[in-house]
Amino acid sequence: MNRRQFLSAGAVSLPAPVLAATDALKNQVKITGFETDVLRFPPGRPFADAIHDFGKEGGGVVLRLRTDAGVTGWAYSSFGMIGGGPRVLESILQNEVKPALMGKDPSFPKRLRSDLWKALEYAGVQGITQFAIAAVDIAVWDILGKAAGLPVYKMLGAYADRMPIYSMCGWYYENDGDLAQFKQSVGSAIEEGFEAVKIKVGRSSLDDDVNRISAAQAIAGKGRRVMVDANQKFNLNEAIRRGRVYQQMGCFWFEEPLVPQDHAGYAELAHELDIRIATGENEYTKYAYVDLISRRGADVVQPDDRRSGGVTEWMEIGAIADGFGLELASHGGGPTNLHMLLAMPNAIYMETGSLKGDSSSVEKLRPSGSAVLAPEMPGIGSELRPDYIRKFKV
Ligand SMILES: [Mg+2]
Repeated sequence: MNRRQFLSAGAVSLPAPVLAATDALKNQVKITGFETDVLRFPPGRPFADAIHDFGKEGGGVVLRLRTDAGVTGWAYSSFGMIGGGPRVLESILQNEVKPALMGKDPSFPKRLRSDLWKALEYAGVQGITQFAIAAVDIAVWDILGKAAGLPVYKMLGAYADRMPIYSMCGWYYENDGDLAQFKQSVGSAIEEGFEAVKIKVGRSSLDDDVNRISAAQAIAGKGRRVMVDANQKFNLNEAIRRGRVYQQMGCFWFEEPLVPQDHAGYAELAHELDIRIATGENEYTKYAYVDLISRRGADVVQPDDRRSGGVTEWMEIGAIADGFGLELASHGGGPTNLHMLLAMPNAIYMETGSLKGDSSSVEKLRPSGSAVLAPEMPGIGSELRPDYIRKFKV
């Protein structure tokens, strides 16, 4: 059976344009179009973690890479709380990235990453600049998957066909001294079928943390997991003091106790405590992880698909973690994170919120118990619904 027959015989029957694109990928393909949209979301219900206040105006940037093979790759970078962030990212994409990318072959993601690092190095490859590099990489993988007619997790070296999920549901809310809103939120996640929930801690006293954890554990009941996330709030001494209590209470992991840059502190904390230390959502590129992991500063590694550098760099980070025997979980959810997690043997969880509402993506996640099933559509699931873009486009 040749490759074309193999693709045609698969579970997904390929429409004619995709087969044409598959043929085109055998030759040189060129990026011929580069489009961005800025989205803006109106303010909503306020919520918070230990250091951030959310619910004000948010936004995001959509990137579409068009090719002469007729395949379009998509990426989407969301900004939960920086009003001006999307405009900055769009400017970097249009003024710095586009000139370095047009005419290039998307079949070479690592070469494109190298080209973009060179083009952007003067601005730095951390911060929002890395969001731009990541967006291109995600869009490129979307092109490759669509052209091959395969969901990208099968091109990355598939390991699993379903991924356990947990719900980030226990935020801080306004006027919630009796934890009524907190309990309602944790309760609805359990009702939805989640067997693991994450709650925020660290905004107030240790006594307050204990109340929140006890309430969440009582709602979750036996056999379900509660993770705690301190969002960088503590110094090392306070993290050790509170971490001992969280571990005594049986929390599954203690997330981002310290500022992300304090790798020496993370190493000392991980040595001091038995509870899993989870971190990574604010680390940029594999080089940061090499330092963190080689110091043994984390037990669960949590790359963010924007900050870490897109699919290519994320997968390398996952493999470095695997080589050190560490567990892997995504920061945030959605189809793109799911594809990457499904291709890593050390992946234990995808983070998500409720999956009951409408998805912004064309590809909708398919929950099954406390897991989601592998995506079926070709590509990496980064394509947004046209009506969603129309509704929020600036
Ligand atoms: Mg976190």
